[in-house]
Amino acid sequence: MPSAVVVGGGIAGLVIARELAIGGVSVTLLEASDRLGGKVARHIVAGIELDAGAESFATRNGTVAALATSLGLSVELPNPAGAWLQASPDRAFPLPKTGLLGIPSVPLAADVIAAVGIGGALRAQLDELMLGFVASQERNFGELVRRRMGRVVLEQLVAPVTLGIHSRHPNDLDVDVVAPGLRAALLDTGSLAHAVRTLRAAAPAGSAVSGVEGGIFELVDALADDLSARGVDLRLSSPVGEVDALGATLTTGEIVDADTVVLATALAAPDQTTITPTTITLATLVLDAPQLDGAPRGTGLLVVPGTEGIRAKALTHSSAKWRWLADRLGAHRHVIRLSYSGVSPEAWREQARRDAEKLLGVEIAASSIQGFDSVEWSQPATAPPSIPGVTLVGEGVAGTGLAAVIGRAQREAERLLGDSKP
Ligand SMILES: Cc1cc2nc3c(=O)[nH]c(=O)nc-3n(C[C@H](O)[C@H](O)[C@H](O)COP(=O)(O)OP(=O)(O)OC[C@H]3O[C@@H](n4cnc5c(N)ncnc54)[C@H](O)[C@@H]3O)c2cc1C
Repeated sequence: MPSAVVVGGGIAGLVIARELAIGGVSVTLLEASDRLGGKVARHIVAGIELDAGAESFATRNGTVAALATSLGLSVELPNPAGAWLQASPDRAFPLPKTGLLGIPSVPLAADVIAAVGIGGALRAQLDELMLGFVASQERNFGELVRRRMGRVVLEQLVAPVTLGIHSRHPNDLDVDVVAPGLRAALLDTGSLAHAVRTLRAAAPAGSAVSGVEGGIFELVDALADDLSARGVDLRLSSPVGEVDALGATLTTGEIVDADTVVLATALAAPDQTTITPTTITLATLVLDAPQLDGAPRGTGLLVVPGTEGIRAKALTHSSAKWRWLADRLGAHRHVIRLSYSGVSPEAWREQARRDAEKLLGVEIAASSIQGFDSVEWSQPATAPPSIPGVTLVGEGVAGTGLAAVIGRAQREAERLLGDSKP
């Protein structure tokens, strides 16, 4: 029986381990920490199990939904009310609905004019008058948007969205990673707005994101059970120091040899390309707050970077977004998640309460807080090393997000299984 060792038990490692096991490979998975899932994790706040990391997934290609369903989980659509944008301390409005990562598909639509003003919208409309090849060679996502639609759309619509989703400004993102097919569609259709309409039309109908009943962390539990049932050797608290084409060496010196070696995380290696490290803090409040029953800002808000008096970069009104969660909480109880760039200040709970108050436009008394937790996450500071004979998966190579990470893990498993066939 062929063998494989998978280093890293985040979602990427779990998915590729499962695919290889289904393909008849004997798999050992080595995870450094004492739990599986990586950035998909749970925490308990005010007695309720909640996602402490990822809480939804992009529906493009149907990849994640198909996996969740195959594991017996129930895929849930979010409240269609959608998210808002906080453009300045006292101006918030619903995010234009038909865009892609904030790029408007109809620059002169009323909701786009409301967002960026008539000047910003007219500049964006110039995109339709340019030739399709203008900026089509541009790999820098921010530059591409700026050249086609101008700085106002870039900073006021696209940057809040990518900072919310990818924790990076568009100028720090590769267009082919965050919006695959966009440059080709731009060339084909002749304008960025048209390219966005084409990509959206090709995506599955319905919402751009979905969730899992009970929380995304259910995916990890279900994968772990599935892997155990398939005989995968799951080893926790097994940090790996080195990998090569022949196997993985744990920091204890133990060597796990295998025919196939998969690296599903970035190992610390001093000679690797350094990319800007980011820390994200998620602050979660469970509130008894009847004033939020009407979901005053839909499913939440993205905040234009630099908005005075607000430190959070995004707020999710989780109990307005997910029906199953509202049902579990009961009347007048709400879950609010705020995300921040950087680490916690001292008075973190009070900061989160004040930001939630400003963003949601209602008073939130300190006494209404039933539970609070903050969790810090860091993005890898290094790109994963390229090692001959070692297969790379995970967000370091696939880009951030479950859809990208799971899609790549499945494709790489298919390739490996194909290669091993006589
Ligand atoms: C706060 C937050 C919210 C997010 N929200 C969403 C969302 O709503 N939707 C979405 O699609 N995406 C979201 N993401 C992104 C998504 O969670 C990640 O892109 C994805 O989970 C990454 O999975 P991964 O397996 O590549 O990496 P990770 O989850 O980082 O897993 C890597 C694993 O490798 C292990 N490891 C590290 N070093 C070693 C070693 N030396 N030896 C062995 N094991 C090692 C780690 O302990 C970890 O378990 C969010 C991310 C964060 C931080």
